[in-house]
Amino acid sequence: MNADVVFYVGLMLEGKIQDTLDKVESAYAVTAKIDTKRLEKPEEFEGHFDPHIWFDVTLWVDTVDAVVDGLSKADSAHAADYKTNGEAAKAKMNALHEWALAKVKELPEAKRILITSHDAYNYFGRAYGFKVVGLQGISTVSEASLADVAKMVDFIKENRVKAVFVESSVSPAAIKRISEDSGAVIGGELFSDAMGERGKMEHGYDVGTYEGMIKHNLSTIVDALK
Ligand SMILES: [Zn+2]
Repeated sequence: MNADVVFYVGLMLEGKIQDTLDKVESAYAVTAKIDTKRLEKPEEFEGHFDPHIWFDVTLWVDTVDAVVDGLSKADSAHAADYKTNGEAAKAKMNALHEWALAKVKELPEAKRILITSHDAYNYFGRAYGFKVVGLQGISTVSEASLADVAKMVDFIKENRVKAVFVESSVSPAAIKRISEDSGAVIGGELFSDAMGERGKMEHGYDVGTYEGMIKHNLSTIVDALK
């Protein structure tokens, strides 16, 4: 209540806190201006939109204006600066999207299968041409059943998938089990609902930034499946 301005994702990503945030005048859902036609409502999200929009860089670009507007209202003296910086941020993101499209081309289409523990990558798959198979639903809390694990092992063998991936915000137990049972290696750890540690450099990018998060995930996935 004391903050000058608050930004949150929205689309129920923040769960029950969203009801409170919606009532705070200086709090902005950064997804508010996204055309809902571009959003997915997968079955497992039980009537809600999938909130993991940051994995399609062209969708995340559409959050910039909400941030520029919110900052400009809180600090109108610098509105022009926010606008300029917002445009620069969008240009950087568009370049990142082009980089991502080029990186994916290193992988033959048949090998573009991403297997991981929760359903954070629907937009990623749509934007960059991957078939995404998540082991558990939207929640990072619920456990995968033994039947789910067995089904996944069969799928991996049938499709000769070389690698599966663990996530920074989900327990790796089920994916480790799948790796052992299927023979697919663990291709690395992906960021899903959080970025990395600020200032930690990897191949010239900072994994504590949005750009670094995207580059880390794509490089990890493409290099492991090649
Ligand atoms: Zn998530």
